[in-house]
Amino acid sequence: MGVEGLLKTIRTNNPEADLDLVRLAYDYAAKAHEGQKRASGEPYITHPLAVARYLAEINLDTSMIIAGLLHDVPEDTGVTIEDVEKNFGSDVASMVSGITKLGKIKYRGVERYIENLRKMFIAIAQDVRIMIIKFADRLHNLKTLGSLPENKRYRIALESLEIFAPIAGRLGMGEIKGQLEDLSFKYVDPENYQWVTKLQTESSSERNKNLEQTRIITEKEFHTTGIPIISFHGRVKHIYSLYRKLIRYNKEIDKIYDIVALRVIVPTIADCYATLGIIHKLWRPVPNRIKDYIAQPKPNGYQSLHTATFCLEGEIVEFQIRTEKMHEEAEYGIAAHWQYKDGIKERKIKEITWINELAQIQKTVFKNIKDIENLKIDFFQNRIFVWTPKGDIIDLPEEATPIDFAYAIHTDVGNKCVGCRINNQLSSLDTSLRNGDIVDIITDKKRKGPNPGWLKFVKTNGAKSRIKSYAKSSLTDWIKDKLSIMKKDKNDTPPNQKAS
Ligand code: MN
Repeated sequence: MGVEGLLKTIRTNNPEADLDLVRLAYDYAAKAHEGQKRASGEPYITHPLAVARYLAEINLDTSMIIAGLLHDVPEDTGVTIEDVEKNFGSDVASMVSGITKLGKIKYRGVERYIENLRKMFIAIAQDVRIMIIKFADRLHNLKTLGSLPENKRYRIALESLEIFAPIAGRLGMGEIKGQLEDLSFKYVDPENYQWVTKLQTESSSERNKNLEQTRIITEKEFHTTGIPIISFHGRVKHIYSLYRKLIRYNKEIDKIYDIVALRVIVPTIADCYATLGIIHKLWRPVPNRIKDYIAQPKPNGYQSLHTATFCLEGEIVEFQIRTEKMHEEAEYGIAAHWQYKDGIKERKIKEITWINELAQIQKTVFKNIKDIENLKIDFFQNRIFVWTPKGDIIDLPEEATPIDFAYAIHTDVGNKCVGCRINNQLSSLDTSLRNGDIVDIITDKKRKGPNPGWLKFVKTNGAKSRIKSYAKSSLTDWIKDKLSIMKKDKNDTPPNQKAS
């Protein structure tokens, strides 16, 4: 399938797209890569075409699709970024240049890991679209990994599992994260991959009969009550995500209810709650299994209602209820902002504090494992939402403490912190905060600075570096003081004259 398939996908999703320009970009890339072959022996252009097709399938705008077609051009051919800019404009050229920079990593081992992370953070801070195209690139590379030598296969798969997938997760791109994980899991840990795949097939075929019956009965009830259902179908859990859950549940698959879940998509939020009511009237809910991620979204923005109910023959089934918009956000996360919708391109990105923080952090040079560990804690860990008494939300890594919270508000609040109330209870400063806590920091203006002992329990990079830098600056002040006193004693300098 050549460029026609790509153009058809774009036309279906977006009738007003400039197809001529896309065709032009394809011809341009095809000419630049002429004669080049992939490891599989196929002509090279099949790769950028597959990348562009994926971007088109998830309904992204034409400038990203064009950048996808051109993404390897400056890397491997005689064509330069300047040529790309002349022909396709500065927006496309800057995306292509960002992707090219991401590709150039020469190090090995730990250094490679650090460099990889650093470059990706720079790319995200610069333009999230670069990262989205890079994910599409990586997905196709993983799908065609079979033709590479074994050591290269393993390296690319491991990198995808440890770096790319968590970043996709943090950007809320659930579907892409799931695909990256499943494709790389197969090469990183083939044994466990086989084990979980087999387990999943067995378990879902066993449950499928009851599940389909449950679905039919529930659907009938939806019709009777007149709930406008957009779609209602089973969704199978991704292999790697099931593997992680199996490990958490001591490998007891019977305790995992969402291997196959029933997903309901309805037009409005009110319909979501109405649908939940109908399901609970029909099937008895399992206690403590109702999760309202609509009123309280997960920190990556995920929204849905989840419930588990006892269905036919007492089988437990999980239902996930959401609107179409929530569904798109759950699957494509931040990428949903560049999707083509009803003739208008939505480009507004919510203020995402951690992306802004990246812009700061990328300036730091990571030297050792410890720096990476800190960074992993800040960005790859699960996040919690903690509230100020005024109702502002602060986004923190799991197990963050009131000190982390104080520094997330402002450096001064951290430096002057003397105590805290969590949900109106006086609490110690090393308490692990939980999602939904309301935290009130008590400050004392006369306090000189942070307690270096806090370093033992703070979790965020931000808090750590500010406590350390305060300790450093107060130490240098102290040394300077001492020095000037010594000088004064020696030279008998007048007190108002500073030593130069
Ligand atoms: Mn590529």
